[in-house]
Amino acid sequence: MVLVRPENTHQSRLVRLLRDGPRSRVELGDVLGLSRTTLTAELDRLVERGRVETAGPAASRGGRRSALLRLAGGVRFAGVVVAPDRVTVAVTDGELNVLAQVDEPADVRTGPESVVGRAVELLGKLRAELGVSQLTGVGVGLPGPVAVDAGTAASPPVLPGWQRFGVRDAFAAELGCPALVDNDANVMALGEQHAGVGRTFDDFLYLKLGTAIGCGLILGGRLHRGSTGSAGDIGHLPLGEDGPACVCGESGCLEAYCGDAGLVHAALAAARTGRSPALAARLAEAGTLTMRDVAAAATAGDPAAQTVVRDAARRLGRVLVGLVSFFNPGIVVIGGPTDGLGHILLAEIRAVVYRRSAPLATGTMPIVLSDLAGRAGVVGAARLASEHVFATD
Ligand SMILES: [Zn+2]
Repeated sequence: MVLVRPENTHQSRLVRLLRDGPRSRVELGDVLGLSRTTLTAELDRLVERGRVETAGPAASRGGRRSALLRLAGGVRFAGVVVAPDRVTVAVTDGELNVLAQVDEPADVRTGPESVVGRAVELLGKLRAELGVSQLTGVGVGLPGPVAVDAGTAASPPVLPGWQRFGVRDAFAAELGCPALVDNDANVMALGEQHAGVGRTFDDFLYLKLGTAIGCGLILGGRLHRGSTGSAGDIGHLPLGEDGPACVCGESGCLEAYCGDAGLVHAALAAARTGRSPALAARLAEAGTLTMRDVAAAATAGDPAAQTVVRDAARRLGRVLVGLVSFFNPGIVVIGGPTDGLGHILLAEIRAVVYRRSAPLATGTMPIVLSDLAGRAGVVGAARLASEHVFATD
């Protein structure tokens, strides 16, 4: 099923509203402020073109019953999220409900051809399972700054060899549908906006933790990319001249302290200096430490491991104080912490932000962990594709 773009802005607004779920004609008219004549004409046209279908009768609202409409069943988006060590793909329906999702280890250092090829293969399996012959669009999140207009990674320290590779064009050619590429924190923010706690906020900030640290900003209901697409790229904010060395070549960056490698580095120091017998025992046994070891020790109550995590959280909190005072978000959503660490991080981040921020900025602002459990990225990537496909040009 080949789908064509909306013919005008009314149709574009209608399909975007239906992306959030079925609605009655009356509701659609109310929300968009369209006359009954215009609404009927545009909806009839969308039905005729196979974009919208009747989902059954809506609840009666005092008198005339109104038919419930939804996006046509043939609309299928794909979401792809590339992490430094993993690739996740999903297929969604037009409302961006995940119909099937799969992930597997993948090393981005093997280069874009192999990672993109593997993502396309995995999508092929999901499409076969679901019987999806044609995708409506695919969105892709990459772990680093992205040149959105070119559809490529931009100067990526974590993506060596990807800089001149046309990620967008490769997916579009392989899958035969429009493809869009953006930074992973941005697509996760879009996922939170669609299906997470960000759903009811026009202005919010999504903080992505993990190997790389990034931030996605939704302002006035739209993703804010900035003038060159690097808005929210906070991983290399300088926190101290003589801090730990960073992948970017500088030292003392936020990511060098609070990214996974930074926490593991601090945990190794705690193990080697005897401050943490638990981490020392694990190091002796395994020869190295991972984020899982740090999380296991911290959640088991090891004081030195907890100090490592709290120190990182305090630094993140201080950066958030600046961001919150500058952008005044309605909520801060934190995603990506290693299992078990979320609540330790959250408690410390909250303490710093609420103590150090102006009451007007944070008085009613919640700071919460994402509740999307790994779906934020693929849902957001699908939403990125839908924004393009549901636009008029
Ligand atoms: Zn750096």
